[in-house]
Amino acid sequence: MGCMMNADLHCHSVISDGTLTPEALAERAKTNGVELWALTDHDEVGGQDRALAAARAQGLPYLTGTEISVTFAHQTVHIVGLGFDAHNSGLVEGLRRTRGGRSERAQEMSDGLAKVGIRNAYEGALQYVGNPELISRTHFARHLVETGVCSDTSEVFRKYLTEGKPGYVPHRWARLQEAVQWITDAGGIAIIAHPARYGFTPNEEYALFSEFKAHGGRGVEVVTGSHSSPEAVRYAETALEFKLAASRGSDFHSPDESRIDLGTLPYLPGQLTPVWELLADRIQ
Ligand code: AMP
Ligand code: MN
Ligand code: MN
Ligand code: MN
Repeated sequence: MGCMMNADLHCHSVISDGTLTPEALAERAKTNGVELWALTDHDEVGGQDRALAAARAQGLPYLTGTEISVTFAHQTVHIVGLGFDAHNSGLVEGLRRTRGGRSERAQEMSDGLAKVGIRNAYEGALQYVGNPELISRTHFARHLVETGVCSDTSEVFRKYLTEGKPGYVPHRWARLQEAVQWITDAGGIAIIAHPARYGFTPNEEYALFSEFKAHGGRGVEVVTGSHSSPEAVRYAETALEFKLAASRGSDFHSPDESRIDLGTLPYLPGQLTPVWELLADRIQ
């Protein structure tokens, strides 16, 4: 297979903060020429059976997936898991605990927004939620765009939903070690998602990669919708330095909001080991 494969191993459905169903995503992936697909909803595997069935119906090879929210060095880091047993009880229970607290957090976000004159944001965001356990900042962003407070979701994040802004509420997610273990114990591999997004100092980033490796992490996203091409080059080097396999995924959320569509990223650089080589026997 090598690196020249149109694998898209990162995207979101209505089960988390995407706007399409697993079935619509499978169809879109097939139409766009994806050759290996994974649905990676935030902190949730509730869409996996539907995604697999839909992929089968499209004749599209599939890997199970999720994207786990982790707190590391006072920041939120995302760990993608691929190729696990989606019914593994440790994983399912760990994710259920990680989702817990999202409703309270959302209420606090709404209280913060009310203080700057934006009322009933919780109720507004709920209108966009497909999974009651998974209310996310993205749903608030959609509501604030729809009601004309901001013109697009990135403006909402910039003005209201990031650290220091009125709708931001710090939150404690899973620990790095737990997330890696849940995935690994369920037979999958753990991958650091979009590393360029975190804004870590070089020391913090070194700590993230070293600890991730020590806990059994196996891969890093190199080509993603969240990386510029220089960032992809930089993390290709990091993958080689830490002997990690490389992953590729659009992080597609919505036809209206996402910059990169499913299956439209550049290929992985050729000198890397693609994660799908580690997962050949897990492809369904
Ligand atoms: P949460 O898990 O509730 O903290 O929400 C995180 C989600 O918000 C991410 O998975 C992205 O989908 C979205 N997000 C984060 N930052 C931005 C941004 N600057 N612009 C648009 N969406 C963002
Ligand atoms: Mn998201
Ligand atoms: Mn992410
Ligand atoms: Mn994502």
